[in-house]
Amino acid sequence: MNAIQQEVRSLIKQLSEYQKAYYVDNRPQVSDLEYDRLFDRLQHLEQEHPELRFPDSPTQRVGSDLDADFPEVAHTIPVLSLDKSYSSEQLLSWIQKTETKLDEQVGIVIEEKIDGISIVLYYEEGVLVRAVTRGNGAVGNDVTANVRTISSVPLSIPTKETLAVRGEVYLPKASFALLNEQMEVPFANPRNLAAGTIRRVKSSQVAKVPLQIFVYEGFWESDTQLKDHLSILSALSSYGFRINENLAYFTQDARIAKQKLEEANLSGFAGSFADIASYLDAHTKQRRDLAYEIDGLVAKVDELSFRELLGYTEHHPRWAMAYKFESPQAQTEILAIDVQVGRTGRVTPVARVRPVQVAGSTISNITLHNQDYINMLELGLGDSVEISRRGDVIPAVERVIEKAEGGQGTYHMPTACPVCASTLVQKGAHTFCPNPHCPQQVKGRIEFFIGKDGMDIENFGPETASVLIDLGLVSDVDDLYRLDYRKALADQSGFGEKKIRLIEEGIQKSLNQPFRKVLVALGIPELGKKGADILVNAGLDSMEKLLEVAGTQDVQRLVSIRQIGEKSAQLYIDALNDPAMLRRIEALASLGLSMVEQQQKETDLAQIFAGQVWCVTGSFEHFNPRGLALGEVEKRGGRTVSSVTGKTTHLLAGNGAGSKLEAARKLGVAIVDEQMFLSLLESGVPKREEMQGEFSF
Ligand code: NAD
Repeated sequence: MNAIQQEVRSLIKQLSEYQKAYYVDNRPQVSDLEYDRLFDRLQHLEQEHPELRFPDSPTQRVGSDLDADFPEVAHTIPVLSLDKSYSSEQLLSWIQKTETKLDEQVGIVIEEKIDGISIVLYYEEGVLVRAVTRGNGAVGNDVTANVRTISSVPLSIPTKETLAVRGEVYLPKASFALLNEQMEVPFANPRNLAAGTIRRVKSSQVAKVPLQIFVYEGFWESDTQLKDHLSILSALSSYGFRINENLAYFTQDARIAKQKLEEANLSGFAGSFADIASYLDAHTKQRRDLAYEIDGLVAKVDELSFRELLGYTEHHPRWAMAYKFESPQAQTEILAIDVQVGRTGRVTPVARVRPVQVAGSTISNITLHNQDYINMLELGLGDSVEISRRGDVIPAVERVIEKAEGGQGTYHMPTACPVCASTLVQKGAHTFCPNPHCPQQVKGRIEFFIGKDGMDIENFGPETASVLIDLGLVSDVDDLYRLDYRKALADQSGFGEKKIRLIEEGIQKSLNQPFRKVLVALGIPELGKKGADILVNAGLDSMEKLLEVAGTQDVQRLVSIRQIGEKSAQLYIDALNDPAMLRRIEALASLGLSMVEQQQKETDLAQIFAGQVWCVTGSFEHFNPRGLALGEVEKRGGRTVSSVTGKTTHLLAGNGAGSKLEAARKLGVAIVDEQMFLSLLESGVPKREEMQGEFSF
């Protein structure tokens, strides 16, 4: 047996033992996270080496909870487990793949994944005849007498139909807390207590435990008119079953989702697929407030015809996907610790670890935040550590499992900046490089400024920024607005005439970004879009006002705004008192960037240039740089172009206008001077025909 084969066999053995402890004895030997990690590892190995996929592998069958104390009964419906995902990206990608596979748009119902015991209720001609545990998916234990004691399980239903209903038996958190207090050996969680209860031999004892049920699937023996999951839930509810209305419906179009829920007479959230990520996020937070435990959410294809096409594996339906809140952990080793300098000068230690798979992706770098965090972990080079993906995305070192033999103890961050060698300074818990000209800071600051979260400068990516920084032409963000790009980039490979023109246009256009964007783009620590909105909405709607608050160290003014804490307030004040920042702000203001929130929304402006195509040439007294004039045109519904063509309707011509003016004359384009343009902005617009000639040079 080679090493991989050995690992596979050992994982199968280990997982099978853990399954028995969990499902049958209700006394798990390891955490669910550890179990899931091993399960994912086995699944990964089997994917890489399909020849090592053995029939007894836990990935190929449902974890069995069969118990010899109860009779076994064969299931007549598929009673399987669920495939799982750990992030909204994984879930969305599954939805997308499902739509592609079906070549159809699907409806997705998202329900809570109740952390209880799976049960199937069999009704014959409307009467409960059997309640059976999931067992191994094909055969389960008959626990009818015990399940009959659960008051929310209907013993008969108001129809003579024969059907099987899947549900989850659970114990509410409050009842668990009460009962567990009285246990000699307390249970780890409500699930284990509920599972132990349902397999009690004496039903009279079961009756003392206030178990509950939520049902979530129905399988009718004869044909029904029911075509989708929502109708099934609705029908089950009308029969007196307890269904969990804490659900959501998503389609590509939110209106259809809303309509579907209304038609099924179900409450719940309706949205488009774009809303799924925020729904998962909100639900993850809400989870603590629920009266019962959930260990995730379940996304299911709504349409039954699609479910039939998608089918099942031995382990799970292909039409459903669990979203687990907690991602598995893994063990690895600290190979090195590097320090990185960010745009604010903050120096962050980053651990390079032996690459390891966690929740479907390979982790090799993990941020360690600051020295305090390292001290808390007592982390050093070579240590074996347990890592996780917190919030399902960000990898984190959870703890040191074993210190490196002969290691150098806890790691200490350097005292000098690894990039510019300045002596590092400590501010609160974090370490900073105090040199605003540190190349790494300059780069980070400029990249942030031009990026989506900053000024969002079109056609200007980090590569262009890098070239300009390396050429020594840009050392702070205001340089971006002073540069003669034609000269600067003319000899650079990859920068043709067109590309340079697009860069210039992007820069010019960005001059019209609103104050909130400029404020964020400055890169003040912890001041993102939300922070800028909060400040502006609270009346701090100009740079002047903000600088006054900062200059007078008026922390109180900031913390009086709900949602701004003392820590952020101090960070904002410190940043706005920093001489480098003050210089930057002054320079940007003089270049025409917006330093005041415009009260009038752009959409409120009369769209006097709608349908017109404007070009600008020459220089102006009031619009310097001239991109400001383009912005005024765009705000009023006009389109702007960089050259005069047959489609151009207007040319705004300033001093020194040359070839564009010539072209405009030839093509009969209306020519407008600065004075006229200003009066148009103030008073409205004459028709193109009226302007022709009248205002031309
Ligand atoms: P699962 O987590 O894969 O989920 C499938 C089950 O979810 C279904 O069988 C069903 O009973 C339940 N469910 C709850 N709400 C549902 C809903 N709305 N719709 C559909 N199904 C719903 O369950 P599993 O296969 O029983 O167990 C695997 C998990 O159990 C592992 O991921 C692990 O976390 C845990 N486990 C832990 C250990 C351990 O030793 N700690 C051992 C075995 C399993």
